[in-house]
Amino acid sequence: MPRLLLVALALLLPGLAHTQSLAALLAEHTLVDLSHAYDAETIYWPTEDGFVLEEGFAGITDKGYYYAANAFRSAEHGGTHLDAPIHFAEGRQTVDSIPLEHLVGPAVVVDVSAQALADADYQVTVADFEAWEAEHEPLPDGVIVLLNTGYAPFWPDRVRYIGTDERGAEAVALLHFPGLHPDAARWLVEERRIHAIGLDTPSIDYGQSTHFESHQILFEANIPAFENVANLNGLPAHGFVVAALPMKIRGGSGGPLRIIAFIPNE
Ligand SMILES: [Zn+2]
Repeated sequence: MPRLLLVALALLLPGLAHTQSLAALLAEHTLVDLSHAYDAETIYWPTEDGFVLEEGFAGITDKGYYYAANAFRSAEHGGTHLDAPIHFAEGRQTVDSIPLEHLVGPAVVVDVSAQALADADYQVTVADFEAWEAEHEPLPDGVIVLLNTGYAPFWPDRVRYIGTDERGAEAVALLHFPGLHPDAARWLVEERRIHAIGLDTPSIDYGQSTHFESHQILFEANIPAFENVANLNGLPAHGFVVAALPMKIRGGSGGPLRIIAFIPNE
């Protein structure tokens, strides 16, 4: 065999083996979509306009091929989206500057649905996390914490999901949905080292919050939040990976988020 070919093979083979092992690794996992689709029903804060799809051309062009393209309009915060730390903390990370390592990694689901479905104003407590840790493991460093309040199945019914279908500034006082208690946010920041947190309601602070303290506490520590996350019901409590990749808006305070879970097959 010509010497050059041998060298080329030697360089190529480890790459091939690596590609195959990555493909095998992926094949051992089931992908779960944790994002709601954007459409006219997508839930935004009562003070925001909803998602607007401006339909463009769709059809056969005069050259004979099919072509379709639309435009869209959206607030940063609506639907399944990311809150960047700068949303409530001056000088902290914007969407484009959050390290990818904080958006992709091992994740856990803390199920508080029994408490939250019984009380729309429920706030997740330190005791909820301590109970989870007693049952499973201490929250690992660098983990992504997902709170399952059990509200995702109500989407897009605004009355059941956020407590009102009224719009405008006056509707904000009518919001009722569960969130994270500020004491628990402080505990996560001071006692644990999580990379990100998410939940299946429109805000990491509960609907009746007026000062959004959990936002302030988490974002001061550069811990971003994922909101209106979907499909948490089918996930295991731990032992899986999440990839949460928002639209990369330079300087953005938040943005539409495609979040998926990699669940190891049995
Ligand atoms: Zn937000």
